Amino acid sequence: MKSKNHLKIGKLIKNLSLSICCILLFSSMSSEKKRTLEKGHFIFNFQEIDEPVIADLSKALEDNYDRILVALKYPTDFKTRVNVYPDIATYHKEIGFPNWPDWAIGSVYKGTIDITSPRNPGPKHNYTSIINSIIHEFVHVVTEKKNENMKVTWLYEGVAGYLADNIDTTKQNMKKVLNGKIPQINDMNSNKILFSNNYALEYSKTIVEFIVKKYGNDKISLLIDNSKTSVDFQKIFSITEEEFQHQWENYLLLTYK
Ligand SMILES: [Zn+2]
Repeated sequence: MKSKNHLKIGKLIKNLSLSICCILLFSSMSSEKKRTLEKGHFIFNFQEIDEPVIADLSKALEDNYDRILVALKYPTDFKTRVNVYPDIATYHKEIGFPNWPDWAIGSVYKGTIDITSPRNPGPKHNYTSIINSIIHEFVHVVTEKKNENMKVTWLYEGVAGYLADNIDTTKQNMKKVLNGKIPQINDMNSNKILFSNNYALEYSKTIVEFIVKKYGNDKISLLIDNSKTSVDFQKIFSITEEEFQHQWENYLLLTYK
């Protein structure tokens, strides 16, 4: 999920007096036994009940850490905070979006990963899919480190879906996806697409996959570095947006239909 959603939290907090904030923070902190564990490149904050899942989350992140930094050409080592929530409702409440759908189990805010415990994956996920989702969220962290102003949703989600390989783009699923109308890439620049098109994550991943196959991995890093709210196709690929759209649609039909 996109971190700019979290801006709303900032606004909410500003509306509260400092004293109320302190009471709220204190009450949520004291309700369960909190733990912090620093392991490798990550610092985990979690409730005692989730201690058993930290090893799996940590392994998934460390196993993919170098590969993701190399793929995105990010040269500096750094540590990332990870907040693990005991269930989806607590995760949604704590990040300030109590009405988010059940498929939303993780996000990034200011370089920190917030994720639901794989122990309690809810109706749309399972233990393994949440373990894979944390790799997806870490790709978001590195993307934001490269360019915090990069807000193109299909690129932000597509890079994460592609590098974490946690979005189902098997032929079987893509047959279903392609039964609908293929969206305009332009319409996937903003976060709205995530809530208006059920297959936005699949489409986003296939755009990035298409770019890597046809134009090479180097273009991904270049796109992140050079984009803000839209992509300059002429500058990066020396073709118009219409031509790029046409190439991608052909790739989809040839590869998946
Ligand atoms: Zn995401």
